[in-house]
Amino acid sequence: MIRYVLPTDTELRITDSVAVDLFHYRQSASNVLESGGILLGSCYPDYLLIDSISIPGFGDKQGRSFFHRSKTRAQTLINHAFYKSDGRRIYIGEWHTHEEVTPTPSYTDRMELRLAFKRSKLHFDFLIAIIVGNSDRIEDSWVGYQDSNDLVECHRLPNVFEHITLVND
Ligand SMILES: [Zn+2]
Repeated sequence: MIRYVLPTDTELRITDSVAVDLFHYRQSASNVLESGGILLGSCYPDYLLIDSISIPGFGDKQGRSFFHRSKTRAQTLINHAFYKSDGRRIYIGEWHTHEEVTPTPSYTDRMELRLAFKRSKLHFDFLIAIIVGNSDRIEDSWVGYQDSNDLVECHRLPNVFEHITLVND
């Protein structure tokens, strides 16, 4: 579980399986194209969980430094996830990859996220953006929070077990 804190002080959790999926699409070599998709998850009383993503597929357009996802396929996936989970699994935001170790949103990313925020039927007054760099650590990804004002970076919280020292006896 990778954890972040949103500007609203809500905790954001990303499951290990989503982290593995995102890491799989990192642009680890110069011939790996940019990837992207949507983030799906659920809202709990104490935290927001991202537990599923869409991966590149039919209708998406990929290049070395661009990714245009198919709106139709994304909407179908969102609807399917919503009905299959009795309305619990919802659209939470967007992810894509960058060919850099420490990714930050480009000008285009900022424009597109602002548009996504305006045009999407959201369950909250924000959306989450994840940019996966080509680092060997998925924790080096950039995680942001887009609301009607701005796109801001979310700070990562320590992993739950990071501070526990195991003692072998
Ligand atoms: Zn980007």
